[in-house]
Amino acid sequence: MALFSKDIQTMEDLFDHMLQDIYYAEKKIVKSLPTMIDKARDASLKQGLSEHLQETRGHVTRLEDVFRMIGRDASAVDCPAIDGIIKEAGNLAGDIEDKEVLDAAIIAAAQAVEHYEITRYGTLIAWANRLGHQDAAELLGRTLEEEREADSKLTDLAETGINAEAAAVA
Ligand code: FE
Ligand code: ZN
Ligand code: FE
Repeated sequence: MALFSKDIQTMEDLFDHMLQDIYYAEKKIVKSLPTMIDKARDASLKQGLSEHLQETRGHVTRLEDVFRMIGRDASAVDCPAIDGIIKEAGNLAGDIEDKEVLDAAIIAAAQAVEHYEITRYGTLIAWANRLGHQDAAELLGRTLEEEREADSKLTDLAETGINAEAAAVA
C-alpha cells in the first residue's frame, strides 16, 4: 500500500486504508488457497488448508461488516506485500517433486501468509480501539484469533511429521 499517499491525513484515513489493504489480502488468499490445497500431498495438510479457506471467506465478510461499522465503503487497495508472499510461494513450490519436501514448502508459505495477517490485524485492533471503534475491534479480534489458530495448526503439522519426513528424504 502507498503509506505516504496524500489521501491519508488522519488516523481514521489510515485505519480505513489499512482495512482496504487487508481486504485485498483476504480476497487474494481466497483465490490462492485452492492452488495450495491442490498441490499439498499430506491429507491433514489439505484438510487444514481447506478449513482455513472456509474461515478466510468469513474474514472477507467480517471486514465488510467492519467497513459498515465505521461508515465507509468496502473497497480494496493493492497490497504488494501479500502479492509478493504468494508469488514467492508459487516460485518455491513450483519445481519440487518430492511430496514431503513440497508439503514443507507449502507449510512455510502458508505460515508467511498467516504471519502477515497477524501483524495487520494486531495493528488494526490497536487503531480501532484508539479511534473508539470497540465494535470493530471486537470483530477484528475474532479474525485474529482464527489466524493464530491456523498458524499454530501449521506448526503442529510441521513438527509432527511433515518436516521430519522431508528431512529423512535427504
Ligand atoms: Fe484471514
Ligand atoms: Zn500492503
Ligand atoms: Fe489466514
